[in-house]
Amino acid sequence: MTIEAAACSELKEIAGYSFDEYRELVRQFHGSEAPGLLIGGFMVALALQSLDEGGFYDAISETRTCLPDAIQLLTPCTIGNGWLKIVPFGRYALTLYDKTVPSHPGVRVHVDAGKLKAWPEIYAWFFKLKAKGQEGQENLGEQIRQAGTSILGITRISVNDQFTKKVHKGKIGVCEQCGEAYPAEDGQVCLACQGNTAVYL
Ligand code: ZN
Repeated sequence: MTIEAAACSELKEIAGYSFDEYRELVRQFHGSEAPGLLIGGFMVALALQSLDEGGFYDAISETRTCLPDAIQLLTPCTIGNGWLKIVPFGRYALTLYDKTVPSHPGVRVHVDAGKLKAWPEIYAWFFKLKAKGQEGQENLGEQIRQAGTSILGITRISVNDQFTKKVHKGKIGVCEQCGEAYPAEDGQVCLACQGNTAVYL
C-alpha cells in the first residue's frame, strides 16, 4: 500500500534535529558529509513519522552503503545489537517494522528515481553521472535539504516471519591452529584457518 505523497512532502525536520544539526552529526559519525546519509536522514524520519509512537521497531537496510549509518544515528537499531540487518539488494531503501506484532507490520522507504529529475544535482549524484570530486557538493547538499522527503516513496509492508527469527549460535570451540575461539559448527578449525585468509597478507 502506498502512503499518500502529500504526507511525504512536508517533513523538514530529521527525527528531532534541524537539517544543519543532522548534517553536523553525520560529519562527526561518518567522517564526511555523505549525500546518501543526508538523504538517509529524511528516509528514517519519514519512516518514523509514519509509524505509531511507542512501537518496538527493527530495521532493514537494502544496501551496505551509507544508509545503515543514518539508521544507527537516528534509531536504537545498530548492526552490533542486531536490530539492524542488511539485505544487500543494492537498492537505496530501508524498512522499519514492529517485531512484537505477529504480522511484523512496518513501512519501507525508498528513493523514487522518477522524482529525482526535478533535482539535477541529486539526479547526477544518484546515477553517478559525475566523476568523484566534480560533484557540486554545496549545491548537492542544498538540493537535498530542499527536496526533503519529496524524492522518497513509502509503502506499508509486512516482514516475513522467517526473516525475523533469531539465529542462535551453537557451541563455541577453540581452534587448534590459531588458538582463538570460533563457532564449532564451522568445522575442525576456524574459517580463517580453513583458508579464508584473503583479508590479510
Ligand atoms: Zn583458527
